[in-house]
Amino acid sequence: MKTIPFWSDDFPRPNDLPVSETPPQTVDVAVVGGGYTGLSAARTLAKHGASVVVLEQHTIGWGASSRNGGITGCGLKQGMPAIFRRYGETRARQFWQASLDALELIKELVAEGVDCDWHQDGDLEVAYKPSHVKALQARVAWQRKMLNHELVFVPREALRDEIGSDVYYAGVIDPHGAGLHPAKLVFGLAALAARHGAQLCENTAVQYIRRTGQGYELLTSKGAVRANQVVVATNGYTESLEPSLRRLLIPAGSYSIVTEPLPADLQRQISPRRRVFWDSKWFLNYFRLTPDGRLLWGGRNDLSTDLDLQKSARILHRQMVRAFPQLADYKVTHTWTGQLGIPLDLMPKVGRLENGVHYAMGFGGHGLHMALYTGREVARWLLGQIRQTPFAEIPQKRYFFYRYKPWFMPLVAAYYRARDNLS
Ligand SMILES: Cc1cc2nc3c(=O)[nH]c(=O)nc-3n(C[C@H](O)[C@H](O)[C@H](O)COP(=O)(O)OP(=O)(O)OC[C@H]3O[C@@H](n4cnc5c(N)ncnc54)[C@H](O)[C@@H]3O)c2cc1C
Repeated sequence: MKTIPFWSDDFPRPNDLPVSETPPQTVDVAVVGGGYTGLSAARTLAKHGASVVVLEQHTIGWGASSRNGGITGCGLKQGMPAIFRRYGETRARQFWQASLDALELIKELVAEGVDCDWHQDGDLEVAYKPSHVKALQARVAWQRKMLNHELVFVPREALRDEIGSDVYYAGVIDPHGAGLHPAKLVFGLAALAARHGAQLCENTAVQYIRRTGQGYELLTSKGAVRANQVVVATNGYTESLEPSLRRLLIPAGSYSIVTEPLPADLQRQISPRRRVFWDSKWFLNYFRLTPDGRLLWGGRNDLSTDLDLQKSARILHRQMVRAFPQLADYKVTHTWTGQLGIPLDLMPKVGRLENGVHYAMGFGGHGLHMALYTGREVARWLLGQIRQTPFAEIPQKRYFFYRYKPWFMPLVAAYYRARDNLS
C-alpha cells in the first residue's frame, strides 16, 4: 500500500509545467500558496495584465488541492438555512449565488482546456441513521421553497437504483453535483495561469512579509521579493506567517484510501449513475469511483493531522466494507492525508488585514469550487473590478481562545463523535 496521494501518483506534476528556479525581484502581486486558491487568483490577475508570482513552499499543488476527494456541488460547508438565519436573506442569497458561480468557474476552466475528468452526474447524500431521514426530506422542501433549487428525495426502497449499498436509510440527489480529478485540475490550472504570464516558483517558502513604504517585501527561502500587493492562500497549511490569519481557521486532517481498479460490473453496481456520495454523519464519509474505476473512500473520525496512515487505512477500510461488503476482498493501493482549514463559523474567510495583505481560505470540506471562486474574487478585488466581496463583508470570526496549538481539538472531536453515536 502506497502512502502517497493516489491522484498525484496517477497524474504526476507534468515535467513541462513552466516553473522558475528563482523568484522575480519585483512584481505587482505575490501570491503565497500554490493550490486552487492561489493559482486561481494568479490566473485572473495575470489574465488582466498584472505581473504575478506564485510562491509555493513545496511543489505546485502539493497541498489539499491534489489530495482531495474531487467531489463538488452547490452550497457551502455551512448549511443554507443556517446562513439565511445568521446573515439575512439578501446576503444569504449572495452566498448561494457565489457557490453556483463557483461551479460555473470550474466549467469555464474546463472550456479553457483544463482537462480534469469533470463529470456532472449529480451527488447523493445518504442518511446514515433512520433519524437523519427527516432532515433530508426537510432540506428538499426548504431548498425548493427558498432557493427554487430542485433536489430529489430517494426513499430507502429506491436507493438500490442509485448506490450498491444496503446500509443507508434514504438519500437526496442534487443533479448539479460533480466529480473531477483533483491533480489534473490543479496542474491544468497552473499551466493556464502560466500561459497568461504568471510565474510559478516551487520550493520557495515565504518566511516573512514586511510592509514597506510602497508595498511589501517578502523574505523567501530563495531570496527577497518586492510586491505592491500580497495574497495569502495557504488554507489548511497556514502557519505563523501572518499571526492573525492563524486564528481564522483550524487545520484539520482528512484521510483517504483507494482500492485497486474494480471490474466494470462492480463499478456499475456501486454507482450506477456515476454519482458522487457522502453520508449524513458529523464526521462524514465521502466516496466515489475514480475515473479509472477504483473506489475512493475518505473521511475522518478524528480532527488530528498526524494519524498514522496504516491505522487510518484500517479504519477507513472497515467503514468502506460496512457500506460495501462486496469490496472486502479488493486491495487498498493508496492511503494518504491532507489538511483543510476549518473556520469557527464554517464560512469561507476572504479579506484584507490591517497591513493591507489580502487572503482567502477556510473552506471546510467544500473547498474545491470555493477555493477557485474566492481566489478569483480576491484577484478581482485587487484589480478594482469589484469593490467588495460578500465573504469579506461578514464578521471574520476568529478562534480567540488559542494562539499556537489548537489544544481543544480532541475535545471537539469527542463531542462530534458522541453526536454521531447518539443522534
Ligand atoms: C483529504 C482531503 C479531501 C478533501 N475532499 C474535498 C472534496 O471532495 N471536495 C471539496 O470541495 N473539498 C475537499 N477538500 C478541501 C479542498 O481540497 C481544499 O479546501 C482546497 O484544496 C483548498 O485549496 P487552497 O489552494 O486554498 O489550499 P491548498 O491546496 O492546501 O494549498 C495551500 C498551499 O500553501 C502552501 N503554503 C503554506 N504556507 C506557505 C508558505 N509560508 N510559503 C509558501 N507556500 C506555503 C502549502 O504548501 C500548500 O501547497 C478536501 C481536503 C482534503 C485534505
